[in-house]
Amino acid sequence: MNYQRSSALFLEAEKVIPGGVNSPVRAFKAVGGTPIFVKEAKGAYLYDEDGNRLVDYINSWGPMILGHAHKPVVDAVVEKAKKGTSFGMPTEIETKIAELAVSMVPNIDKIRFVNSGTEACMSAVRLARGFSGKDKIIKFAGCYHGHSDSFLIQAGSGAVTFGSPNSPGVTEGTAKDTLLARYNDIENVEALITANKNEIACIIIEPVAGNMGCIPPKEGFLEALRNLCDANNILLIFDEVMTGFRLAKGGAQELYNITADIVCFGKVIGGGLPVGAFAARNEIMNHLAPLGPVYQAGTLSGNPLAMAAGLAMLTELNDDAGVYNSLAEKTAYLHRGIAEVLNENNISHTINRVGSMISVHFDEAPVTDFETAANGNNEAFKTFFHGMLNEGVYIAPSAFETWFLTDALTYEDLDFTIAAINTVAKSL
Ligand code: PMP
Repeated sequence: MNYQRSSALFLEAEKVIPGGVNSPVRAFKAVGGTPIFVKEAKGAYLYDEDGNRLVDYINSWGPMILGHAHKPVVDAVVEKAKKGTSFGMPTEIETKIAELAVSMVPNIDKIRFVNSGTEACMSAVRLARGFSGKDKIIKFAGCYHGHSDSFLIQAGSGAVTFGSPNSPGVTEGTAKDTLLARYNDIENVEALITANKNEIACIIIEPVAGNMGCIPPKEGFLEALRNLCDANNILLIFDEVMTGFRLAKGGAQELYNITADIVCFGKVIGGGLPVGAFAARNEIMNHLAPLGPVYQAGTLSGNPLAMAAGLAMLTELNDDAGVYNSLAEKTAYLHRGIAEVLNENNISHTINRVGSMISVHFDEAPVTDFETAANGNNEAFKTFFHGMLNEGVYIAPSAFETWFLTDALTYEDLDFTIAAINTVAKSL
């Protein structure tokens, strides 16, 4: 495939945008080469500036569960835009989407909308601190909760791809309040709690990690976390920015039947518009301004275009009882197909999958935490990534990312992808 125009556009972008991109992972630094510039997208496909069609397994990093330019979402946004794009005043649609979200997700009474996953997680932690009167938080190595200071401590995703998991600019004062635990290691969490008795406000976790590839929680791990939190008066925050409304209507809380105290959402809600949200039971949410003392705000929060997209998206997910099964079946089909061709080609690998999140690691050791994810054969991933691109399949340009499936994918698309992997496997 030819990517000449994309390369030329990147050279122009680099002159006026740091690294040519507005979010680091897009720059292809981890895999080499220059990024693809998108012209448009429809359903399961991206069309780039050189006229190539790519089957998309990123889907805007999660939100396009029903496909790109999904008609009900686009129509809702267009209609709303004609009536004004922002007021900084309450609108009825905010209550409508809040009611729907509260009815879909277990254990939440109230939800507040923000503009990104970063804002959702940052605000959730402030609320947990304000509610509990304690300062420290526990996060897991390799989990990414956005780029606010408290979380840029061994974060996953782009933060680790670029080898600067602890970013300059995060002060020691901030860093000392973030304690790091190993994903899937409950003894490690227990030891941190014991060493910081009565000082920990919350534990924040991706209930299925998606920022070090896809890593499922080991059986019993989330339950054990819940129990530890209860025993020690610690709030459990599920960062469901990737998993919320994707793994099930009620996200990972529903899938694993575990109650979180605060839940963070992101991009999925907005169907591709900039939306995030955090939610909890009344007792906790009533601590937020203007009801309570914990401050949190936003000029564009609850923006009418974002809310219209979100309401259209959530309504479809709520009404289409088959969508989650359909997604999981397609992903399982892809999983079987990938395993088959990699086995036939004698390529060592591990495939992790939960619902419609899946990742392929080129090493046969199980990938269960940040260390094992980092030990995977990430050199092989680079060759794999470029090979797939050449075959017309777009996966995330880093081994530390999950793939997200969209229900717009057909079984023919999946067969096309599996055939591409077979071709690429020969060069690994
Ligand atoms: N939490 C998780 C689990 C995420 O995956 C991300 C982004 N991929 C974020 C938070 C931050 O969201 P945003 O990029 O919208 O700020």
